[in-house]
Amino acid sequence: MSHNLKLTNSLTGNKELFKPINPKSITMYACGPTVYDNPHVGNARTLIVFDTLFRVLKKIYEKVNYVRNITDVDDKIIEASKKNKKTINEITEEVTKIFHLNCKSLNCLKPTMEPKATNHINEMIEMTKSLIKKNFAYEANGHVYFSVSSFKNYGALSNKNLEELKAGSRIEVSKLKKNPMDFVLWKPSEEGDPGWESPWGRGRPGWHLECSVMSEKYLGKQFDIHGGGLDLIFPHHENEIAQSCSNNSSEKFSNYWVHNGFVTINKEKMSKSLGNIISITEAVNKYSGQVVRLALLSAHYSQPLDWNNKLLENQRSTIEKWYRLYDETNDEIPLEVINILLDDLNTPGFIAKIHELYANANKGDEKSKKLFNSACKFIGLFDLNKNEWENLKKANKDISEEFILKKIAERLAAKQKGDYKLADQIRDELLKKGIIIEDQKGKTTWKFK
Ligand code: AMP
Ligand code: ZN
Repeated sequence: MSHNLKLTNSLTGNKELFKPINPKSITMYACGPTVYDNPHVGNARTLIVFDTLFRVLKKIYEKVNYVRNITDVDDKIIEASKKNKKTINEITEEVTKIFHLNCKSLNCLKPTMEPKATNHINEMIEMTKSLIKKNFAYEANGHVYFSVSSFKNYGALSNKNLEELKAGSRIEVSKLKKNPMDFVLWKPSEEGDPGWESPWGRGRPGWHLECSVMSEKYLGKQFDIHGGGLDLIFPHHENEIAQSCSNNSSEKFSNYWVHNGFVTINKEKMSKSLGNIISITEAVNKYSGQVVRLALLSAHYSQPLDWNNKLLENQRSTIEKWYRLYDETNDEIPLEVINILLDDLNTPGFIAKIHELYANANKGDEKSKKLFNSACKFIGLFDLNKNEWENLKKANKDISEEFILKKIAERLAAKQKGDYKLADQIRDELLKKGIIIEDQKGKTTWKFK
């Protein structure tokens, strides 16, 4: 099938025509979650952007291998385990389970493969050994560092030069490093922390190594597309390139680098460290997976997307309206409709097209109605039929904000009458629905569990 897929390649900053290595089998890798805490709406954007690209690639090529990893060894996981008094396994298994439920509610297709870092420790040790042997890395007191000055293209993806990076690096760098920009491939683990035996003692890998190892194992030394959020360009992706190209004596690792912009709240990046996150579970419970999905596709992937009630309410009324013309059609969507998405995954343009098809269908045009339904399904909407959608809404009524505020008022009234038993019952009833209420300074607030 002839087509013209274009993608903005972070390597060049240009929108480029996509030329696959092997058109019979496309290879794509996207960095997946670090499973230490409930995934948030920012993480959902990366998920949905690459899920949509996966759908587009599947439409125009015979076969697509899409690998999305799970980072299940990381300092943040160790910290979370200590803070919550849970074992590492408990945390990673629990968060992975939530992540998979989230993927399902957002109607993301399963990637071809979902490898875990901890299942690839041997390969990471082998790659580290090989980098040392080839003089790209050195050992210092149980640590192994990658020597950035040994890799001439360091900084090419992020457009940074080594001198600038050195000047900008913080003072308290480890004395073990030869150069402050050198990054860790392997580090010692304290007793009680996860660790594996290695030629450098008991330890664990640095974060960047897993993606070099797993992408090569499942997609080859060179592959088509590598994706992730904008924050991964530096240092994560820069370091993946340095590791893989050095070890394989190659010029290229991934041919196209695609990065999605941030989800923001009041113009600030949504992130755990800023404490402004909304979990996917919370957003989905409040608005439904489809509404969240449509909201995340409403802006072009390269742009920031501000998360606010108005955005969500608008998407909710759109989905609500679109369901009026729902039917069971799921015809193959013609290429001329997909063309909009082939232009650098122009999801806002595609959504505008769906609105146009809806308007025509609403005037009684049957062909538009079929196209409208196929187009919605193509980008992962209408995964519930009309009945299921109505049932979901009924079930969700129970946890609408209105319902919660009503229950809080009833509880307050019970407390004022001295009926603490009823007050506690109401608190438990909300807790069962995943709502936690907190009394502070005479006011009651609520949040999702
Ligand atoms: P993490 O679990 O932090 O490793 O992140 C998983 C993915 O979510 C990465 O591709 C991040 O770049 C992406 N990500 C994290 N925060 C945001 C955000 N606020 N907006 C968009 N993408 C994000
Ligand atoms: Zn990665």
